Amino acid sequence: MDVLYAFIKSQELRALNEPTSPRPDAATAIFNLPDYRVTGTEVLAFGQRRIRVVATAEAGCPSCGVISTRVHSRRSQRLRDIPVAGPVEVVWAKRRFFCDEYLCPRRTFTEETAEVPRRARSTRRLREALVAAVIGSGRAAAEAASSFGVSWWLVQRALDSAALTLPDVDALAPRMLGIDEHRYRSVRFFRDPATKAWKRALRG
Ligand SMILES: [Zn+2]
Repeated sequence: MDVLYAFIKSQELRALNEPTSPRPDAATAIFNLPDYRVTGTEVLAFGQRRIRVVATAEAGCPSCGVISTRVHSRRSQRLRDIPVAGPVEVVWAKRRFFCDEYLCPRRTFTEETAEVPRRARSTRRLREALVAAVIGSGRAAAEAASSFGVSWWLVQRALDSAALTLPDVDALAPRMLGIDEHRYRSVRFFRDPATKAWKRALRG
């Protein structure tokens, strides 16, 4: 009995210490949007569901890379997303953080994730699904748009940006190489370009 109790306590402690738990709650697991946790759901008219989410990824300042945990404010942003067992309306309680790095000229910054980069209004998985529907399945942009319940220009924009992410490397001419002195000295975290995960940099 004592062994079982100790085991349960250790699992509870683990859960407390792991914000991105490998065993998320049921709604988060079913919704399955990487780096987001479901905080609430509402059923709207016509059975449409509103899913409220918060980001779980660490927020790094885009100017200096330093991770911040001090929240300045929150605002709701609607996101277009793929249908999840029917159409959904996603509302992200997006946080603005203070940058506490005293050398950094940026006072605050808004969080972003790999799924929803800066200025995006739709999830990456929706944009990828639209591109796959048109390029992979040979469906017309308008048909893909109506089946996902989005406008044709969102499909067109997803196609345009997919084309832009596949540049001809031989045609690329870097104009500038190097890194800003201030940024070099103050970065303590960096984002792995392959995994989009924040990593701690060795301080030198
Ligand atoms: Zn900063």
